[in-house]
Amino acid sequence: MKRRHFVTGIAAAAGITACAQESTKCTDTTTDSQQTFEWNLVTSWPPGLPGLGVGVENLAKRIDRASNGRLKIKIYAGGELVPALEVLDAVSRGTVQMGHDSAYYHRGKVPAAQYFTTVPFGQTVHEINAWLYYGGGLELWRELYEPFNVIPFPAGNTGVQMAGWFNKEIKSVADLKGLKMRIPGVGGEVMQRAGVTQVTVPASEIFTSLQTGAIDAAEWVGPYNDISLGLHKAARYYYYPGWHEMGPMLQCTVNKDAWNSLPADLQEIVATVCQAINDDMMAEYTWGNAVALEQIKSDPNVELRQLPDDVLRLLKKLSAEVLEEMAAEDESAAKIKASFDAFQSKVIPYHRITELAYMNAREL
Ligand code: CA
Repeated sequence: MKRRHFVTGIAAAAGITACAQESTKCTDTTTDSQQTFEWNLVTSWPPGLPGLGVGVENLAKRIDRASNGRLKIKIYAGGELVPALEVLDAVSRGTVQMGHDSAYYHRGKVPAAQYFTTVPFGQTVHEINAWLYYGGGLELWRELYEPFNVIPFPAGNTGVQMAGWFNKEIKSVADLKGLKMRIPGVGGEVMQRAGVTQVTVPASEIFTSLQTGAIDAAEWVGPYNDISLGLHKAARYYYYPGWHEMGPMLQCTVNKDAWNSLPADLQEIVATVCQAINDDMMAEYTWGNAVALEQIKSDPNVELRQLPDDVLRLLKKLSAEVLEEMAAEDESAAKIKASFDAFQSKVIPYHRITELAYMNAREL
């Protein structure tokens, strides 16, 4: 895609005029500090969705303000411009300059992308941030997306999710057999091995699928988002914890040609605002989830339940198997897994005597 596709507006026209008037060579208009850019951003999210959708709106607003209006971003909700689960493809092709979605939606094409959302029994929000920003994770992510002409940025996290909504009680491993469940990514594959039929349904269709009985169970996010989709009105049992998504990272993706068309200060603004949103979204989720959980607990039609230990043990064992197999079949997955696991083996002992010990102490 040519640079002029990303250059729009009065300032660009003014830049060309200035060159013509001065009769000087004008090969690189990107050095013009007044140049403006109007970008499109596609997401996988329903419009205005708390957390994910609001986070993207904040991202665009803050980039606009930080750049003094030089980089304007128009947001399209899931399905508005491109199908909700084809965000990365649109950014890769240059149909749009930016995207916001989950890396693991694309694991069919890039299996190792799963690591840049989350893997079952993997890392919490603090842990994955540490791995990405300081442990070499981000470099591996950029390398993975290089062939797609896309640059990824961590841009939001939901924190520990819920295991999901079930129309049937899960008392033991046997109760998983034959369940039809919406659960994407490797978590879905693990469930499949536990006897569940895994289906992928976009957010906007979860409620109807669950309510009509087309599916028996669905995981989405947690109280804050689930209540906004009305899932508490579509199923009785609300299970925790989100063993499959304990700190899923959202991604902001930028088409590389578009990125290269930006002057260095706007590149820095995009990177910095992505990091700010990464932090801000987590704060919004923690607040929103705590408030929404109170509401869900007071609903007489909902029963909050913890998945039994034997179910969790089985899922943990199957998760390890799936991830091992993925690494055996895919070179990138093997390389990324090695880095991810190496950090996890360091951070677990650390968090055992800090986060975990403190959380337990607080319960005494
Ligand atoms: Ca989820």
